[in-house]
Amino acid sequence: MFRKKILVFLSVGFLLLAGCTSSELPKNTILFIGDGMGFEQVKAAGMYLNGQANVLGFEFLQYGGQVKTRSASSAITDSAAAGTSIATGVKVNNGVISLRIPGNEEKLLTTLEYFKAMDKKVGLVSTTFISHATPASFGAHVKSRGKYKDIVKDYLSNSKPHVLLGGAKHISRKDAEKAGYTVVTNRDELLKHDTKSNAPLSGQFGKDHLPYEADGLGKLPHLTDMTITAIKILENHDEGFFLMVEGGKIDHAGHSNDLKRNIYETIEFAKAVQAAVDWAAKRGDTLIVVTSDHETGGLKVIKNNGKGNLPDVIWSSKGHTGVNVPLYATGKNAERFKGTIDNTDIFRFITQPDIVPAAKKPALQTVVN
Ligand SMILES: [Zn+2]
Repeated sequence: MFRKKILVFLSVGFLLLAGCTSSELPKNTILFIGDGMGFEQVKAAGMYLNGQANVLGFEFLQYGGQVKTRSASSAITDSAAAGTSIATGVKVNNGVISLRIPGNEEKLLTTLEYFKAMDKKVGLVSTTFISHATPASFGAHVKSRGKYKDIVKDYLSNSKPHVLLGGAKHISRKDAEKAGYTVVTNRDELLKHDTKSNAPLSGQFGKDHLPYEADGLGKLPHLTDMTITAIKILENHDEGFFLMVEGGKIDHAGHSNDLKRNIYETIEFAKAVQAAVDWAAKRGDTLIVVTSDHETGGLKVIKNNGKGNLPDVIWSSKGHTGVNVPLYATGKNAERFKGTIDNTDIFRFITQPDIVPAAKKPALQTVVN
């Protein structure tokens, strides 16, 4: 049933393509999501790293704006509903992973599935364990984000990303190998991996989420290592690729109002973005989008204490907040990512070869119904 829907979806997509040439979609799309990363988190990290605000790497990308984050069920979203909005262009209730809830519970086609069906290579990278809500929104369909085993099953038997790199909890070497994946479990193995190999790669690092950057990663890879390896694997393909990279633990440090860990996670996230920007700089065929799913902690920076010193801040929450989150973009079609947009717009801006006012043409997901 789902496969049939993909075909319907794609035939609509290709009709659109036929009308305006496929060159209007970038060959490669890299989407970075800083989980829990609001404007104040970016400001705090910039002050610590560079001594001033507004100079953290991705803040220099050509286009930028902000994103509204509410879910179908709440003004304050969780990562499952926000991830689903970004991945599918449809608002769902908190906790839901890429199923139409509220609604008929049908599977919603994700950007990852859309690009895979176009014969592009696809990948998911996160510092959380790989079946956590944000990556799951792109590669799985479950009613509740806590169904980690079902999410892994969806990855390994349905969406089958070419690259799956993250914390090891809930995914096993045995299951991944059975599904044809090569498995690596530490930084050394990851960096030595033959990126020309056609076998899909499952990085299963540590025992849970990856550790915090501020605590040291030992033998485990940094987000930048995972991002660079993922790009090396995926670039090896004429049709191009889609890659989602999540800085997943900015959120965790936000929940515990831990400024140092929060800043270190954001800085590493910025490094990973920079690696992708440097790779794409001379190509002209790649879109890079950097955003967040929601803010975590109600952070407010009060005073800059200079480079290498934590700024003075106030945290007003141990949970998520409903404020708009940052948006930055560079490369092909990046001009779409400006002003104040809704998180559902990201799906549309990434997947549609031409953008016309929504009122004149239904969104692709609506056509699928
Ligand atoms: Zn959270």
